[in-house]
Amino acid sequence: MSETSNSTLQNPISKYPQPPFNKQPQQVPGLALKMDPQPDHGEKTYKGAGRLAGRKALITGGDSGIGRAAAIAYAREGADVAINYLPEEQADADEVIALIEAEGRKGYGIPGDITHEAFCQELIAQAVEKLGGLDILVNNAGHQQAVDSLLDLSSEGFDATIKTNIYAPFWITKAALPHLPAGSVIIATSSVQAYDPSENLFDYAQTKAANVAFVKSLAKQLGPKGIRVNGVAPGPVWTPLQVSGGQPQDKIEEFGKTTPLGRPGQPAELASIYVQLADPNASYSTGQIYGAAGGSGHP
Ligand code: NAD
Ligand code: MG
Repeated sequence: MSETSNSTLQNPISKYPQPPFNKQPQQVPGLALKMDPQPDHGEKTYKGAGRLAGRKALITGGDSGIGRAAAIAYAREGADVAINYLPEEQADADEVIALIEAEGRKGYGIPGDITHEAFCQELIAQAVEKLGGLDILVNNAGHQQAVDSLLDLSSEGFDATIKTNIYAPFWITKAALPHLPAGSVIIATSSVQAYDPSENLFDYAQTKAANVAFVKSLAKQLGPKGIRVNGVAPGPVWTPLQVSGGQPQDKIEEFGKTTPLGRPGQPAELASIYVQLADPNASYSTGQIYGAAGGSGHP
């Protein structure tokens, strides 16, 4: 293959770090600022074009990973953005809020645990008050812990995965719905795990399949109200979720290697999908799942 001399062309293989990576265990939920190499959330690269001017977005898990990349992109496209995260992630969240404010947009951090219904209601109340409304809801927070054998999967572990990945989007969306005008969008972060589950992600994969059904059902329910509902199904992406127990550490060393691109995705590579799904130009896209998995997996 010839290398290009056109500086606007980028080879997706060499664009970002490839395995092997160092083992780097962190306690769940993990911090992006402790990762090696540092994930790219588009801090230095994402360029906005006013696609979301004046919009009001809430992104769960907006402190790090895919949610942070969406938060940065949304702010650069002209939206005000509130992010939710766990209190122990404040250091990551502070960086995101500073990046949002650097765009001249309003950025708000609303820390709290979404495995409690009362907090989910409080989260929406606070987001609506701070933003002066809401028209983009991104249910992106997620919990993933790899367990090799079903015999070692505790009820507490199963419950944490189901509460974070299924109950929380239900509670948050239910609380948000009365505030969402026609033209609003709801975006879910599902996974290739919905379609091609790994043997050690038995509980997680089921929740990501549930996220697909959430999108497909709710799009039918809310279509007549002018609210679009879509999802994103990422493949392996270099985020704290993976190094804090989402994968065993020996899999972190080889993370992303088996994809056709031979490396994990970076959060920045998914940001434009979240922008596209929120953009009113995509007005006929609802009930869809957009993939970004480096060449394998579904959809
Ligand atoms: P991440 O660790 O950066 O983000 C996950 C976020 O979830 C955390 O930052 C945390 O704020 C939030 N969270 C977890 N439990 C919570 C709780 N109880 N209360 C409040 N917030 C909580 O990792 P990420 O990979 O960017 O994850 C974002 C989404 O992407 C998740 O839904 C995940 O399932 C999905 N996903 C990730 C990958 C991947 O390879 N990284 C692949 C497919 C799907
Ligand atoms: Mg985080």
